[in-house]
Amino acid sequence: MNVILFGPPGVGKGTQGEKLAAESGIKHLAMGDILRAAVREGTEAGVAAKSFMDAGKLVPDTLVVAMIEDCIIADPAMGFLLDGFPRNVAQAEALESMLSKHSLSVGRTVFMDAPEANLLERLSGRLICKACGFGFHRQYSPPSKSGVCDRCDGELYQRDDDCEDVIANRLVVYREQTAPLLDYYKSKEGFRRIDAAGEMQTVYAALKQAVEG
Ligand code: AMP
Repeated sequence: MNVILFGPPGVGKGTQGEKLAAESGIKHLAMGDILRAAVREGTEAGVAAKSFMDAGKLVPDTLVVAMIEDCIIADPAMGFLLDGFPRNVAQAEALESMLSKHSLSVGRTVFMDAPEANLLERLSGRLICKACGFGFHRQYSPPSKSGVCDRCDGELYQRDDDCEDVIANRLVVYREQTAPLLDYYKSKEGFRRIDAAGEMQTVYAALKQAVEG
């Protein structure tokens, strides 16, 4: 089963997507994580992407489409869950033609919906483990020991783009470029919409039902 998860920044795509992919035995392909790894490794794509990411803008389509294609075809038999890709209609169209070129398709496209006030709170309090990538929140799911990951004892950090100015840009980019995906996908087969404003477990149950039901 191949799945697309989309929705605004901070809605929980990463946390929920990682859990669902792990439970379902499929690859979790988080575009933001793939890009951050490329920046860290200093690859050509990472160097090209960095300034866009720092500003909260979308990285050019040609770059992200090529990167996601590489990840998908690395092991096409294993299902995948796309998180943070596509992020505009041009990417959605490119994805469709790329998948059909490889005789692949998507079974479910899930829109995770939450009001903007929730997103701001979630993003500005977010902490991530440097070692394992697990996410915490200063207020809603704090680590047992300040600055230290409960899972692996790694160091927690705040993403550079989780600061107020860049969050504001990311939300504008979402409204202008990513929100139109809702119209693009809502009449297509396999589309589901879930309320992602509640507790983590409630949202996860809704996501599972949307994907499996
Ligand atoms: P995320 O981790 O999903 O919040 O993404 C972090 C940043 O990576 C975004 O603000 C963009 O700069 C970039 N990015 C992630 N996914 C995409 C995409 N599909 N297209 C273009 N840029 C992206």
